[in-house]
Amino acid sequence: MTKRLFDEDVYMTTCHANIIERTDQAVILDQTIFFPTGGGQYADKGTINGVEVIDVKEKAGVIYHYVKEMITEDQVELSIDWEKRFDEMQQHCGEHILSGVIKLLYDGNNKGFHIGKDYVTIDMDIKITGDMLVEIEDKANEAIYKNIELDFTYADDLSGVDLPVRKDVTVDENIRIVTIPEIDCVACCGTHPHRTGEVGIIKLYKVEKNKGMHRIFFKCGKRALRDLRRKTDIIKVFNQEFSSDDESLLDRYYADKAKSEDLKKAYIALNRKQIDLNIEDQLDTEKSYQRMVFDVLSGQDMNYVIKQVSDKMNTVILIYSKSEKKVMLSHDGTKDVKCNEIFKKIRDFGGKGGGSMKVAQGVFEDNDAGMIFVKYVEEALS
Ligand SMILES: [Zn+2]
Repeated sequence: MTKRLFDEDVYMTTCHANIIERTDQAVILDQTIFFPTGGGQYADKGTINGVEVIDVKEKAGVIYHYVKEMITEDQVELSIDWEKRFDEMQQHCGEHILSGVIKLLYDGNNKGFHIGKDYVTIDMDIKITGDMLVEIEDKANEAIYKNIELDFTYADDLSGVDLPVRKDVTVDENIRIVTIPEIDCVACCGTHPHRTGEVGIIKLYKVEKNKGMHRIFFKCGKRALRDLRRKTDIIKVFNQEFSSDDESLLDRYYADKAKSEDLKKAYIALNRKQIDLNIEDQLDTEKSYQRMVFDVLSGQDMNYVIKQVSDKMNTVILIYSKSEKKVMLSHDGTKDVKCNEIFKKIRDFGGKGGGSMKVAQGVFEDNDAGMIFVKYVEEALS
């Protein structure tokens, strides 16, 4: 058995220990401050005699420290990455508070917990709405303001333990019940701060349906602070752009959006007028088909051209947009022209595309190839 110093004093960041056994990649110590992976918490990072600890696992009470290179000394000094450990403690204790609050308020059960690189998540077995998120967030943060002291009860078995545990206890020896009075009570082997105040803040972000559960995304403590700082910086940029402050930002944004939409409408109307003139210029009523080439024409406007020409006459329309490097061939189905048959050759010209009997389209890497294909189609139509 390895003595678990993190259970005695969770705030220890360094200690001395003796190596009592070595495997190929791991060392076993008489005592350790390294928390092994378990209870939804990741293993601690850090060093043993300056050698990086890659992973820490527990098997039958023995803690294996997987090290980057084997350590030859028997007396060693341990040091854990406290920044990482405290982050895990904040997220983990935040999970206890949230799970307890949701159980109290809505009788929902936490069925899964994950500390991600960015967000932390819990999977609840009840439907969680936006209104519920606000209520849960308020109640959870109230538990932080009260700075409640956590209570730890150790037992060899559950007989004689009279505590309202939220979840069935799955271990049958060396049980530790973690209680946050009036909030939560659950068996847990993780690392916890002494008081809820150390969690700092619990910020809920969103809820998503996931495999029949409702997954809540949240951040606690310093993670939430970093997130707030980043978002404050983003809002600062927007406020500079819109000459606004936090209060007026959204109004300015909507006003600007409406203005942009008006400008877009005006541009489309003007552009369509220009296209109409261009169609008039290129229209050749003597021909059995219409061939039109545009320097600038969007994919959407290509459909507009087809409609405009079709409204004037029933004909086969071949159009090419140099800005899109795109070709279209179309008719209303009454012509004896199989557009898809003609476009079968498009790959021989370096393009890609296809279509149906009535309409076919394709794109090219460059306009020279596209224009050669246009000539080929014209020959096929004549
Ligand atoms: Zn815990």
